Amino acid sequence: MIVARVSRCAVFLLAALSTAPAWSADAEQPAVDPVVLAKIRDAALSSDWAWQRLSDLTDKIGPRLSGSPGAEAAVVQVAAALQAAGLTVTLQPAKVPHWVRGEEQAELVDYPGHPAGLTQHLHLTTLGGSVATPKKGLTAPVLVVHSFDDLKAHAAEAKGRIVLFDNAFDQDLADNGHAMSAYGQAVAYRVQGASAAARVGAVASLIRSVGGADFRLPHTGVMKYEDDAPKIPTAALTAEDAMWVARLAAQGPVSLHLTLTPQTLPDADSHNVLADLPGSDKPDEVVVVSGHLDSWDLAQGAIDDGAGITAAMGAVQVLKSLGLQAHRTIRVVGWMNEENGSGGSKAYFAAAKDKLAQQTAVIESDSGAGKPLGVIASVTLDSLARLSAVSKALQPIGATALERRDGEVGADISPLQDAGVPGFAPMVDTREYFYYHHTAADTLDKIKPENLRRQVATMAVLAYYLAEMPEPLPRVPVKAE
Ligand SMILES: [Zn+2]
Repeated sequence: MIVARVSRCAVFLLAALSTAPAWSADAEQPAVDPVVLAKIRDAALSSDWAWQRLSDLTDKIGPRLSGSPGAEAAVVQVAAALQAAGLTVTLQPAKVPHWVRGEEQAELVDYPGHPAGLTQHLHLTTLGGSVATPKKGLTAPVLVVHSFDDLKAHAAEAKGRIVLFDNAFDQDLADNGHAMSAYGQAVAYRVQGASAAARVGAVASLIRSVGGADFRLPHTGVMKYEDDAPKIPTAALTAEDAMWVARLAAQGPVSLHLTLTPQTLPDADSHNVLADLPGSDKPDEVVVVSGHLDSWDLAQGAIDDGAGITAAMGAVQVLKSLGLQAHRTIRVVGWMNEENGSGGSKAYFAAAKDKLAQQTAVIESDSGAGKPLGVIASVTLDSLARLSAVSKALQPIGATALERRDGEVGADISPLQDAGVPGFAPMVDTREYFYYHHTAADTLDKIKPENLRRQVATMAVLAYYLAEMPEPLPRVPVKAE
């Protein structure tokens, strides 16, 4: 691992040395005036406009799952705020799934040493997209496994049972700056667990919640049924309750009664919100700065993704308030339906796909509102040196890291990235992001106003720079299938 890291840094250094940074003394002319970038940063740091928008979105609307009244209220509220800020607003139609949670309950029916007549409730939440149990619930013995391999090893015992995937979120990874890797590993059980369990005959499946910091909070999130397996109901237990069931199961047979009554309604009509700050002389060329409008239904969706969409809104509002107009159009996109289907992302791509050359760069913020540390860029190696002016402008707030990554840096922008458009995300401290992610505790109080201001500054400087640089960054080579 260490060898790989060293060699990657060496490559980066060579690349950086081979091209003079735009702001260095020997560069003839900075690509974008550093004084203007500093002015943008400072204006963002002294504005509470984005915070007000985030307060409106979370405290006055709250949960915004696709197809819900909250999601539609968010479209209206965000569009109105961007219009009032002086931007040209369009609503882009998108079809979205409409899933409603219903009742969610589980009790331990039997376990070794169970005192007669005692009922113990488990804390859980249904996973998005799950089918229902029978109305009165189902009762079945539990099979605890710790991985997909473990399930395979115990496949013969799964028939007629409720499979519990007791897989722990790796908080150590998150604590060391790799929260998204920890998420990626654990989320496989949330997404694929039900079908894996159904394939070996299970009647329902449960996971241990995908998240750190155990406050006995269940974390919801989307799951997916595969075509080759029956659809069985599925939910997430809190980490504590998953460990509890696993401890009991280690002593002998455990049975649960599980009642989940979600419904999948017909797809709904919804919208992305697009708001343009038109370019001065290349108005057809677009830089997207974005976050998603929808959230899970358990909470206010402050960190996921109220912070992202309002930081994107704030970034363009700051530019507008300074009277700045870049060469290219800067477009706020409030995506609909990131959480359970990406209907908004698909609609935008379908509308843009015949003129993809006009999409010059895409930014999405969807990792919460921890302290910004810099910028993640999915760009060619040569492009990094051209972005050093952004890092320099963000030096006073410490957001100087510039990390190149291959592949997706935001779910909604991934179709554009897959087509070669350079993609960006603010790099933020995510150590605590999965404490609250997709739980009832994703509320406004979790966000520090100064961190949101810093994120607005990061996105505003980056968006303006990308829209103002004389030539757009080169396309990223598309990987062969
Ligand atoms: Zn999100």
